[in-house]
Amino acid sequence: MVARAPWRAWRERTQRIVGRFRFWLGLIVGLGLAVIVHEVPYINWKPLVPPIETRPLVVRQDAKGDGRFKAPRSGGRRHRGIDLVAPLGSPVKAFRSGTVVQVGTHRGLGRFVVIEHRHQLTSLYAHLATTGVAVGERVKQGAVIGTVGKTGNAHHPWITPHVHFEIVRGGQPVDPATLGVQAMVFSSEGPKTAGGQLVQSTVAYLQGSQTDDRGGE
Ligand SMILES: [Zn+2]
Repeated sequence: MVARAPWRAWRERTQRIVGRFRFWLGLIVGLGLAVIVHEVPYINWKPLVPPIETRPLVVRQDAKGDGRFKAPRSGGRRHRGIDLVAPLGSPVKAFRSGTVVQVGTHRGLGRFVVIEHRHQLTSLYAHLATTGVAVGERVKQGAVIGTVGKTGNAHHPWITPHVHFEIVRGGQPVDPATLGVQAMVFSSEGPKTAGGQLVQSTVAYLQGSQTDDRGGE
């Protein structure tokens, strides 16, 4: 019983303080809850949501080009993203939550959307048929932002419909594979998982096909 006295005193003092600041404590807790309710939808529950629904993800390999990250492009350039094969008109999704910073049309990229994410990441989705978001709009992870198309330099009939998906960190393109985007490459030697180590194995394929870059960035 002796030990309960300090506890009782502490409790009474706490109750006094709570009673005095009841309004402000309520306000702080209420604001905290409001912020939580507002922010929960934008939590990235997964490291990524693939931008298209096709499974498995397949990297574009057609007569007009190679859709892998860093594949050669005209003028000594390198492919800044990956081209994921997808049916025309199918939904394109935000790979993480973020804020739309660009919606527009570009000669090469066609109709495109750029989303800014946390940790200095931005993602770009190009050759879209339609876009369903506006600049400044906040999007949840997996939200549909547009549909697959063949706009920009992907219009050539020999080019397989695809999404050009590009991730940039601090101005530099990042290999989506390093963020967990696992996509298959079907070369002349059969299916492989996309990644840097595969570049040599498909050299023979590249020599015959990817020189014309005008079709499909
Ligand atoms: Zn591309």
